Amino acid sequence: MYCPFCAAQDTKVIDSRLVADGGQVRRRRECLSCTERFTTFETAELVMPRLIKSDGTREPFDENKLRAGMLRALEKRPVSMEDLEAAISRLCHRLRATGEREVPARQVGGFVMEALQQLDDVAYVRFASVYRSFQDISEFAAEVDRLRGRASGEPGDGKDDDKTAS
Ligand SMILES: [Zn+2]
Repeated sequence: MYCPFCAAQDTKVIDSRLVADGGQVRRRRECLSCTERFTTFETAELVMPRLIKSDGTREPFDENKLRAGMLRALEKRPVSMEDLEAAISRLCHRLRATGEREVPARQVGGFVMEALQQLDDVAYVRFASVYRSFQDISEFAAEVDRLRGRASGEPGDGKDDDKTAS
């Protein structure tokens, strides 16, 4: 980078070390023209995309809101906070990995459903019933039956009876 003192283009790194538990790199640089020294800090840019709501408005991604929604679905379910936190961190990673600056909130909802499905079937149905607002009660019942069948280990993993939600 340019020297902040004389704006010369050539500066060299004379020392480089990890700081902030490895979350940052601190570099000591020296200008080759004026020999002034200065320090730079380098961090990975971890910007979460903003959410595009169904009415077209945008809002910042809110991890606490996400956690609260998942906790509500997981109420009184045998899922540890540790497993939930791991799922949330995977989900955040997945969102960042899209590389998009904005993603539809609907897509995040889909990620949450997949995460809950892996954690707990009941939590998944709870969340899905609110989120996907099942067309009618029979569709909801069919989903519950499908999950029950899977839980009791019936032959056929439930993916075969393909009742695609229209
Ligand atoms: Zn300089």
